[in-house]
Amino acid sequence: MRRGGWLGRILIIVLVLFLMFCISAVFSDHEPDLLEGQERNYPWTQPEAEEETVQPERPAEDQTPDTIEPAEGEKSGDSSVPSVPAEDTVPEESYFEIHFLNVGQADAALVLCDGHAMLIDGGNNSDSRKMYAYLEEHEIGHLDCVVCTHPHDDHAGGLAGALNYATADAALCSVSEYESTAFSNFKKYLTEQGVSITVPAAGDKFSLGSAEAVILGPVGNAEILNDMSIVLKITYGETSFLFTGDAERGEEQAILDTGCDLKSTVLKVGHHGGNSSTTYPFLREIMPEYAVISVGENNTYGHPSEGALSRLRDAGVELYRTDLQGTIVCRSDGKTVSFTTEKKTTEDLFQHRERTVTPVPIVPEETPENTDEETAADRENQTEPAVEPRTYTYILNKNTHKFHNPNCPSVGQMSEKNKEVYVGTRDEIIAMGYEPCERCYP
Ligand SMILES: [Zn+2]
Ligand SMILES: [Zn+2]
Repeated sequence: MRRGGWLGRILIIVLVLFLMFCISAVFSDHEPDLLEGQERNYPWTQPEAEEETVQPERPAEDQTPDTIEPAEGEKSGDSSVPSVPAEDTVPEESYFEIHFLNVGQADAALVLCDGHAMLIDGGNNSDSRKMYAYLEEHEIGHLDCVVCTHPHDDHAGGLAGALNYATADAALCSVSEYESTAFSNFKKYLTEQGVSITVPAAGDKFSLGSAEAVILGPVGNAEILNDMSIVLKITYGETSFLFTGDAERGEEQAILDTGCDLKSTVLKVGHHGGNSSTTYPFLREIMPEYAVISVGENNTYGHPSEGALSRLRDAGVELYRTDLQGTIVCRSDGKTVSFTTEKKTTEDLFQHRERTVTPVPIVPEETPENTDEETAADRENQTEPAVEPRTYTYILNKNTHKFHNPNCPSVGQMSEKNKEVYVGTRDEIIAMGYEPCERCYP
């Protein structure tokens, strides 16, 4: 009896101690959460101007390490990996770089860290070959993760080419199904590798070497695919990088409403610099020191827009543009970032450029006259426009501020109250603040 009572008491004490240990372990695991880290102090407040022209420390052919073995513990799941890499410091041999590929009017960024690689978007369908060649040139035979921010062709288009060269462990996209040739090719290559698409949730985190990525969007549901873009922030030491896909003001606001920590050193500007992205409230939270616009020269959308450019100028960022500088490589040593560009330009990067090519309309009312390429210089030399701008029938969406050709499949999905038939010139509609649809290219 007496002996049994003692044993019982000892057992209870041991149990209580064990429970206390478990509880403390659970709580300490949840502490380093980036989403809860809004109050964290970032020591980098002033950009260091002299860093920007610094040449890459490693020669170009040395950019890819020979092995892509994960460091110990990295693949063993969240519990053993601290969610925030050891308080703003990076390991000695570590490196981090982002290649913003010049893929014209599209997005593609290759993120490299400590022998790991991640691709965020893959350019247009016509960039498939380029994606393949770029990975081959840099000997990136394996991608930890492929991110397709949303399934539009200018983001998903060249992913098939990338996956034709490199294998991937995981694929993230805002949707798992989408009807387009580009998307089915993307899926085909994933399926061949036994990878299925994961639709991530805000708050999801994963590591890329000693860098950490966190998904910030999409949150909730949006009517337009752009506003369902995956938005993710990568943190490397004290530096951070925000990728916003084609997120427009709707998603920007939704993300702002979550109160997550948006502050980033470098911003990949949303929607190729479209006017409905990069709103002031969003920029104010990000407080970027640098911004990169992935955009095509002379694109028919008029991207980057005057509005987005002037907001970025007001924010005091140092701007980079693929249309004027080609492929842009950004490197971080964990404290400061530096940029190198494929081409030099003397142009004012904040200057909005008029389109210099007359777009060929899809639904002409009569045979269009000469629509050969016309340069800005040609136009400036003309005292009067040679031909009156033609008027066409367009369908406006008053909610999304997109305009479409009448035969665009999106028109069928549009609710009647948002729909407006407009007969006029393309430039008039753009001046009204509308942007061309990315499906029908009106
Ligand atoms: Zn898009
Ligand atoms: Zn896009």
